Amino acid sequence: MPANSNQIAKNLKIGVVGGSIAGCTVAIELVRLGCDVTLFERSGDELKDRGAGIGVPPSVINTFISRDLVDADIPYFPATTFSRIWRTPEEHQYGYLAWDQPAQLAALNWGALYRNLRARVPNSVYRANQRIVSINQGDEQVALELADGSNAVFDLVVCADGYASLGRQTLFPEVEVKYAGYVLWRGFLLENELDEWQPLDTGIRCLGYPGGHGIFYFVPGPNGSVERGERLVNWGMYVPVAESDIVEFLTDKSGKQWEGSLPPGAMPLQTERALKDKAYERIPDYYADILEKSPDTFAYSIYDCEVPAYRKGRICLAGDAGAFARPHSAAGALKGMNDAVSLSDAIRTHTTLEDALTQWNIERTAANNRIVNFGNQLGRALVKEIPDWSKMNATSMEKWFTSIVTMQTEYLPAKID
Ligand SMILES: Cc1cc2nc3c(=O)[nH]c(=O)nc-3n(C[C@H](O)[C@H](O)[C@H](O)COP(=O)(O)OP(=O)(O)OC[C@H]3O[C@@H](n4cnc5c(N)ncnc54)[C@H](O)[C@@H]3O)c2cc1C
Repeated sequence: MPANSNQIAKNLKIGVVGGSIAGCTVAIELVRLGCDVTLFERSGDELKDRGAGIGVPPSVINTFISRDLVDADIPYFPATTFSRIWRTPEEHQYGYLAWDQPAQLAALNWGALYRNLRARVPNSVYRANQRIVSINQGDEQVALELADGSNAVFDLVVCADGYASLGRQTLFPEVEVKYAGYVLWRGFLLENELDEWQPLDTGIRCLGYPGGHGIFYFVPGPNGSVERGERLVNWGMYVPVAESDIVEFLTDKSGKQWEGSLPPGAMPLQTERALKDKAYERIPDYYADILEKSPDTFAYSIYDCEVPAYRKGRICLAGDAGAFARPHSAAGALKGMNDAVSLSDAIRTHTTLEDALTQWNIERTAANNRIVNFGNQLGRALVKEIPDWSKMNATSMEKWFTSIVTMQTEYLPAKID
């Protein structure tokens, strides 16, 4: 007779690599199922303060609240429009509004989401400052080698170690992470530094310009406040950087080369100055002033990657360690958390671990590769081939958008008829 699922979970020793959004969610879910979980995170305590804003479909938040992954009163702002705006000589202060595109997005503070999750992972499970340097699969066990030379052996290892995942490289060395040809320059500004808050009060502002666009929206303030005057303006500007120039772009003011991102405050002053100056030519002055005042800006280079599978033997991938999509898809956190929730559901509802992993793998591979394609379509429409919106209106904007972005998601719902 097959063992029941609780027995499977109770006998499982699980290793999780990475303790950010996806890793914490995996750990919470599997601990609750009764598994014996150990999570290894290479960073110390600093993760919680490093994020800015993040957007997810509102229904996702409700699901996460109902599973007690986040507090019922986690602060966020619901947004129902993407206001597509273009700078014109006549409307250089606030820009020309070409289209209020319907959207369903909840804007959260990344740090608040992370802290909610981290608080639910028992401290006995979360091992900070522990970097995994190799992952070795045996017949029915997986050995993790730590940077200090020690080893730990598990029945199942879930790699939630982000976009440059050691887990993905171990399982699928042939998989390529593709640079999209542009970076996301980011920052935030406390609301009390704004001259006026009204232009940002509702929805998400999306400022188009040749070669990219910028997004601006309020997220709850650093202490979680949603009160007027205490919010945080979260912004990101997509900026083309040729592949041949990316190493130089990711070299910080002390000459150190970073991979994939430049952390807050590390960007050389002249690079930041040039980006801020350029913004005054590209986007309306109201928004360029926000960039001008923002301290410690940072940047990510944009990549995407599809994967052939989410598991091989006893090693699974979760979050950005699996397929990962360009940020236009607003799927980073949602995808990672869904991977975790569905893994736990699969283990709970199947009678053998093998069946659970087989089913979970099929479902996650299809769903997440689809999100990658959605992100690529958005990147084509909103960065690579962005047309001049100043010559368009709501009707022509919708026609253009749906001719390129044929996939729909909950966050960008079906077109209006
Ligand atoms: C500090 C931080 C701030 C972020 N801020 C934002 C934000 O403001 N807005 C936004 O949209 N997205 C943000 N992201 C990205 C976003 O969290 C992810 O795209 C998404 O949520 C998927 O999360 P993830 O857990 O799969 O990957 P990630 O969040 O990238 O986490 C991967 C984790 O694995 C750890 N790790 C990697 N390799 C190893 C190893 N060998 N051994 C042990 N640990 C390892 C990393 O230190 C990291 O904590 C941020 C990510 C980080 C790490």
